[in-house]
Amino acid sequence: MAGGKVTSPTGTAPNRYVYYPGTEELGADEIRVIACGTGMPTARRAQAAAAWVVELGNGDKFIVDIGSGSMANIQSLMIPSNFLTKIFLTHLHTDHWADLVSIWAGGWTAGRTVPLEVWGPSGAREDMGTKYAVEHLLKAYNWDYMTRAVTINPTPGEIKVHEFDYRGLNEVVYEENGVTFRSWPCIHAGDGPVSLALEWNGYKVVFGGDTAPNIWYPEYAKGADLAIHECWMTSDDMMTKYNQPAQLALRINLMFHCSAQSFGQIMSMVQPRRAVAYHFFNDEDTRYKIYGAVRENYDGPLSMATDMMVWNITRDGVTERMAVSPDRTWDVEGPGEELAPDPTRDSEYTQFILDGRLDVDKANARWVREFMDRNGLTAEDIEQGS
Ligand SMILES: [Zn+2]
Ligand SMILES: [Zn+2]
Repeated sequence: MAGGKVTSPTGTAPNRYVYYPGTEELGADEIRVIACGTGMPTARRAQAAAAWVVELGNGDKFIVDIGSGSMANIQSLMIPSNFLTKIFLTHLHTDHWADLVSIWAGGWTAGRTVPLEVWGPSGAREDMGTKYAVEHLLKAYNWDYMTRAVTINPTPGEIKVHEFDYRGLNEVVYEENGVTFRSWPCIHAGDGPVSLALEWNGYKVVFGGDTAPNIWYPEYAKGADLAIHECWMTSDDMMTKYNQPAQLALRINLMFHCSAQSFGQIMSMVQPRRAVAYHFFNDEDTRYKIYGAVRENYDGPLSMATDMMVWNITRDGVTERMAVSPDRTWDVEGPGEELAPDPTRDSEYTQFILDGRLDVDKANARWVREFMDRNGLTAEDIEQGS
């Protein structure tokens, strides 16, 4: 019942039909999945590109895909940076991993004390795999890395890559603390993309990578508690709203993505406790055409995902709600000692630039003295890490 019965004018509504991040404990045998990006490669404020946060009752948390624009939604969940260090990628299109740089640099400045870890597929060639991608991302952001490593600390700027074979058929790619991730291939624009299944405590949550219908998903996702799979906009809408020529609008639904009718057939084979359709712009005038097309072939439980949709999975059921989170979130402090700058690192300045410092000592004298006294700092602290 929405809100529940309110019995006192100063009381609260007992039944929450929305999720306020940071206010609900997760049961020991419960999973929470939050959609932090459900959209497309083209940016829009209402929907970031693909990203999912998974929280398990054993305390483990994972990010699966971290597409462009999604980090603001992830951040709005108010989860301390040190709890969000394990990231799984289904493939290397920007709409599935572009915000890796945002969590990398953002978490680094906001209190993460440990390196990030990324799990992702290999490619048909070395230069098409996750290891190559992350290595070269760090090269592209070398100035960012070097200047933060000297001012803050280098450790949270490291990214450990665990690349696995994209050809594995339901192979285990991660096993720790009772949690298993398995992977199988997708058919999407080239070799490399995968779908991922998380198994824990007898539950299974499947994160479908971008794919044309393939034989593996129905087999390995079978009976999942939550089966997430892409579900494309109609070819007519791809023409009129996404500006695609007819030939591409047709092929996109058949050859490298998945039409809503195909999604329906796949979910009829999987028979999940709840199916989740995503990767479309979820508007009044697109949603129902997609929904109707899915219903031609599937009549089971279905979520038409949009950003900040939340699922709680227990033995009793799978619930769908919307999260209500602040637009103006701050990073939440978590466990872990803050790191000091590494005194062995050389400054990234030359004397030429340092000679350009304007003398503002007089203007700052009062507040700097008070601040240093209050926090027990010495003159040495100003120099270190600068
Ligand atoms: Zn893709
Ligand atoms: Zn995509």
